[in-house]
Amino acid sequence: MRHDFRLSIITVFGGCAALAISPFAVLRFMQGNMLAGVVDVGIVFAIVATNVYAWRGGDIEWAGTCVTITNTLGCVAVAWVLGSAGLLWIYPTLLANAFVVRPRTAAFAGIAATIALQFHPSLFASVADHVTVAVTMLLLSLFSYIFAKRTDLQRQTLQDLATQDSLTGARNRRAMEDELAIAIHAFRRNGRPIALVIFDLDHFKHVNDRFGHEEGDRVLREFVRLMKASTRATDRLFRFGGEEFVLLMEHTDELRASHSLTQMLDRLRGLLRTADGVVTVSAGAAVLGHGEDRSHWLARADAALYQAKQQGRDRAVVAAAHPTGAQGSA
Ligand code: GH3
Ligand code: MG
Ligand code: MG
Repeated sequence: MRHDFRLSIITVFGGCAALAISPFAVLRFMQGNMLAGVVDVGIVFAIVATNVYAWRGGDIEWAGTCVTITNTLGCVAVAWVLGSAGLLWIYPTLLANAFVVRPRTAAFAGIAATIALQFHPSLFASVADHVTVAVTMLLLSLFSYIFAKRTDLQRQTLQDLATQDSLTGARNRRAMEDELAIAIHAFRRNGRPIALVIFDLDHFKHVNDRFGHEEGDRVLREFVRLMKASTRATDRLFRFGGEEFVLLMEHTDELRASHSLTQMLDRLRGLLRTADGVVTVSAGAAVLGHGEDRSHWLARADAALYQAKQQGRDRAVVAAAHPTGAQGSA
């Protein structure tokens, strides 16, 4: 729950709302106001059902939309049945909506609720009442929209800071560890081949020694820019450390990895340069084997990279397929 903002919000808001509304449902039935009681029970039931759906791995966007529709319709219904006492429920609901769904969807829900209530036959004693309720509801929707939007932006910035390498803009080592675990999990489920490639810039120490650290930094940034431009949208590039990078390639077996890497290195050879010539790159790749774990997968790619260096650099070596049930099996 700590890692999924929307799931945590749906759970916390849903739990609070269900606890807050349940006693009122009982009260309405005791007062003989069956309609209001049924509306309250309906809202609590929908909140609990959506939470169960979300927690059982359901689509969080969809769960949030269901909660928003239920709560907003529920609040309008309560205001309709109970009059001004029911109207007060609309304000916390509009606020909660902005964090449960996308801010824009929540704003639409707020506007729809504002318009719907304006048609109530007896809720408002005067035009001033109409205007006051409409303006306060719209203002609350607007403020919630702004706060939620800012929260989204800040969360995105924090996520970028936590997962990106600040020098090159590639994903960082921490993101790589998460993605490796996800890739291994996905492979166990769907069996689609996935290749891990380690790239290492050749004689990079020489670039630093000859042209300075800043030029070295520029070459690293340029490498990432060229790689991003020449890989598929589903490929993910990480800075492994220093002048080493890892590329995860989905739907890629040994043959395809070999073909793609030849093309990539050819392209880099023409474009990755310093003042005195080309900076070449070596690569080692391994396709995840059945039952293979993370460290064994990385070790096979690293051994392939070592071979590429041994064979003279500026080339790619793809490790032989991992035999099923071999060392490193989980
Ligand atoms: P090889 O072909 O065997 O890979 O030789 P190499 O010189 O690339 O290998 P080595 O591992 O000896 O040197 C890597 C160099 O990368 C050393 C280090 O100064 C440099 N380096 C690591 N991180 C950075 C960085 O962030 N910026 C710059 N400019 N250089 C870096
Ligand atoms: Mg190195
Ligand atoms: Mg190197």
